[in-house]
Amino acid sequence: EDHIYIVGAGHAGGELAFALRQQGYAGPLTVIGEEAHLPYQRPPLSKAYLKGECEATSLYLRQQAAYEKANIGLLLSRRVERIDRANKKLVFDDGREVTYSKLGLATGGRARRMTISDAARAERTKNFHYLRNIDDVMAIRERFQEGQRLVVIGGGYVGLEVAASAIARDVNVTVLEALPRVLARVTAPQMSAFYETIHRNAGVDLRTNIEVTGLDFNEAGDAVTAVHCTGGVVIPADFVVVGIGLLPNTELAQAAGLDVDNGIVVNEYAVTSDPDIVAAGDCTSHPSVFCGRRIRLESVPNAVEQARVAAGSLAGKPKVYDSVPWFWSDQYDLKLQMTGLSQGYDQFVLRGSMENKSFAAFYLKEGRLIAVDAVNRAQEFMVAKRMVAACKPFDPAALADETVPLKTLAG
Ligand code: FAD
Repeated sequence: EDHIYIVGAGHAGGELAFALRQQGYAGPLTVIGEEAHLPYQRPPLSKAYLKGECEATSLYLRQQAAYEKANIGLLLSRRVERIDRANKKLVFDDGREVTYSKLGLATGGRARRMTISDAARAERTKNFHYLRNIDDVMAIRERFQEGQRLVVIGGGYVGLEVAASAIARDVNVTVLEALPRVLARVTAPQMSAFYETIHRNAGVDLRTNIEVTGLDFNEAGDAVTAVHCTGGVVIPADFVVVGIGLLPNTELAQAAGLDVDNGIVVNEYAVTSDPDIVAAGDCTSHPSVFCGRRIRLESVPNAVEQARVAAGSLAGKPKVYDSVPWFWSDQYDLKLQMTGLSQGYDQFVLRGSMENKSFAAFYLKEGRLIAVDAVNRAQEFMVAKRMVAACKPFDPAALADETVPLKTLAG
């Protein structure tokens, strides 16, 4: 019998289900997720939800009634342990099985764990946290009280957003980054320096070039009390949040014999090495028309747009996934929006003023515009997205000149 199952009830899984209905698939359809929640958006987990400004249900992409109306089944708090491709079966953690006609994989990723020897012990305490799920945040935000000492390990987007949210709740924050600058993986030194200044001015004790070597525990062994770092530095902590990246959940696909290479390998139609199985979101490695190579992205726009392409493939309406990557991050009063991928740029052009917290940074490679980071420039960002998508050269002097509207450059 015809039955499409989707494994993973996150942003991509939820979107894939509704996109299938929108694209005309009317048969049986079920989304399976190991979390207890309806598919939800994760960005607020380090922002509004962490600050206690909204409830978990407001993060849900759609409420229960929408699934009922669209006749989309939900199997939550259920984990798929194995895909038996020969018999087209999914095997659950309780041993039960279902038969699929076609399958969507939207298994996302999990927080990368620390490798220091104290980390396993720390995970059994009550004040050492990773941040990926609603449940993680519920535990963290209870500790957001004035004067509490938080050590954030990792100066990437998640770590910095946690720091900004904690400062808003009058928590004392230290951020530890092993590399010489924050956001090193994704942006230019000028942007890193800008964000470092912003955080320090807000009261964050931000340290770079420093590695965590160990942890202290209380006598009962149920709480971390301090973080040890290179150079003999010891930082007392009431709680610790680790944000050191993501590992894609590819084990299920790999064990089923699907191609996996830094993500579940899909083609430009979001189809895996098995024509009956599509995949979308953080878990995929996909060919990027824009970058001219395979990439794996961790962003909501990618999860949503790739899920729609995957739905098209399952519904017999294939279309090529050719979106230009984009992403955002909110810290304090700064709305950062990024498009393209800046790796390999050879020219950095600034438009506007970092001092006034309103600017766009253009990244060029051999004259061609490959990426833009815009801070508090939402309107220009919309134009910048089109400019990056055009894969064209632009005159750096004109980009920097605020008297020339970007629109006129974009053509
Ligand atoms: P996930 O959201 O990871 O969903 C996958 C789901 O599948 C999970 O619920 C998982 O438990 C489940 N699952 C996995 N394996 C199984 C299995 N075998 N059986 C059953 N269920 C399974 N992106 C932005 O664009 N902007 C932002 O500002 C931003 N901020 C973020 C802040 C935080 C704190 C985090 C964690 C992420 C942020 N992101 C942001 C990234 C964005 O949330 C992800 O790109 C997006 O959630 C990816 O969706 P996904 O569905 O691919 O994966």
